[in-house]
Amino acid sequence: MPFYEYRCSHCGHSLTKLQSMSAPALTTCPECHQETLVKLISASNCDLKGVGVFGNSKNPFKCESRAAAPSSPCASCPASK
Ligand SMILES: [Zn+2]
Repeated sequence: MPFYEYRCSHCGHSLTKLQSMSAPALTTCPECHQETLVKLISASNCDLKGVGVFGNSKNPFKCESRAAAPSSPCASCPASK
């Protein structure tokens, strides 16, 4: 299952949540209990310049924006070559 990053726009609290891709996005901040939790686009992992996220063949980290094509990593990812 992929990790999703959330950030509260109210208090700035951030968290990482392990969720299935079909799981609904969290909306309630566990810190301030406001429904201001924003799901960060996981595709930002592509911008990490491949800091090991693609090196684990057991659990390759794919760009969530390319979830429709799970067999291929993000085409724009420099580490996908
Ligand atoms: Zn909050």
